[in-house]
Amino acid sequence: MTRTYGFDTLQVHAGARPDPATGARQVPIYQTTAYVFRDADHAAALFNLQEVGYIYSRLTNPTVAALQERVAALEGGAGAVCCSSGHAAQIMALFPLMAPGRNIIASTRLYGGTVTQFSHTIRRFGWSAKFVDFDDLDAMRAAIDDDTRAIFCESIANPGGYITDLDAVAQVAEAAGLPLIVDNTSATPYLCRPIDHGATLVVHSATKYLTGNGTVTGGVVVDSGRFDWSTSDKFPSLAAPEPAYHGLEFHRTFGPLAFTFHSIAVGLRDLGMTMNPQGAHYTLMGIETLSLRMERHVANARKVAEWLQNDPRVEGVTYAGLPSSPYHDRIARICPKGAGALFTVAIKGGYEACVKLVGSLELFSHVANLGDTRSLIIHSASTTHRQLTPEQQFAAGAAPNMVRLSIGIEDPDDLIADLDQALTKAVA
Ligand SMILES: *Cc1c(COP(=O)(O)O)cnc(C)c1O
Repeated sequence: MTRTYGFDTLQVHAGARPDPATGARQVPIYQTTAYVFRDADHAAALFNLQEVGYIYSRLTNPTVAALQERVAALEGGAGAVCCSSGHAAQIMALFPLMAPGRNIIASTRLYGGTVTQFSHTIRRFGWSAKFVDFDDLDAMRAAIDDDTRAIFCESIANPGGYITDLDAVAQVAEAAGLPLIVDNTSATPYLCRPIDHGATLVVHSATKYLTGNGTVTGGVVVDSGRFDWSTSDKFPSLAAPEPAYHGLEFHRTFGPLAFTFHSIAVGLRDLGMTMNPQGAHYTLMGIETLSLRMERHVANARKVAEWLQNDPRVEGVTYAGLPSSPYHDRIARICPKGAGALFTVAIKGGYEACVKLVGSLELFSHVANLGDTRSLIIHSASTTHRQLTPEQQFAAGAAPNMVRLSIGIEDPDDLIADLDQALTKAVA
């Protein structure tokens, strides 16, 4: 059959087929470290990457491979690599592109942990990041220099609900001959498909909506397969003989799968940020209902945000799904099925009132997580974003008088009632 399946079909079927050994219909958890070689020639072919197969689960595992194929299909990519966390996925995305002295251009509107990873930790590898407001395309262009190797942003940016104009950003990246990496965690491929807007690589924290129920720490890098790594001499790991894999030329040998093969054969082999098969199984089960959950997340978020916006105890709501948002007109183009379920609320009474609100809620959980079936809240300025400067906090939508809500799939009237009683306690 030549039919192209729709999203709801792919989220259930992509990457999975009845187990050839047992007929098991659900993807089995292949809880094994190693795989028996048929003979010495088979082993040699696997190690030479002449035959695709399983060697050792730090590199590949059948359960993890099913998840890789499924996420690649949902994002419209050529291949994908699963990792031990979203933060691992970010390092894995950068690893084949970077070298000491090289830099990336990153949006100021990012997950707080990513700002920290890019501001401090990557410097230990000799990499650096320049943070720029991605609504200022001239500033982006001006920040790019001869050592720049990638552009990095989030589609729907955590925590403010800001929507990046991916088409415009991709044009800047393309004109500079650079890959665009988009963190699509908050949107998921159901709401936004960054590759359709020109992204080269898509990264995910599978910890969030993909798994969807707060049980797994995981990450994924999806490769569009569309970037020509060989047009410049900027990406020798992919386009020139790779000394870390006996001189193999990944782009010439694997074409659109060069990044994926390099990430497995060198990245996972040597960095070891591997997803475990049990985690992959939970994430596969979560993805089966992704579209159903995201529809409810978005509908609930809109209802709760509208209620909050009209409440006199509230100073403002950043949800892009509200017509008052400056990013509202980007929804139709970038994330047509909705603006996600993550937004910030500014409360009258500032820092103290936020702390009291968080402590008074009964249904919302105060946790450093998002994208759970349960509704979650966090006061970013005193938690996830506390290591940032006040300027960075403000730019990231994490000012002291703001809380971030991740709206779950409960009955929205119960969520509104809980917020109502807690606001009464928090704002005198
Ligand atoms: C949570 C998150 C990350 C980090 O993912 P982990 O799985 O916690 O390592 C990165 N980006 C965004 C947008 C996130 O929400």
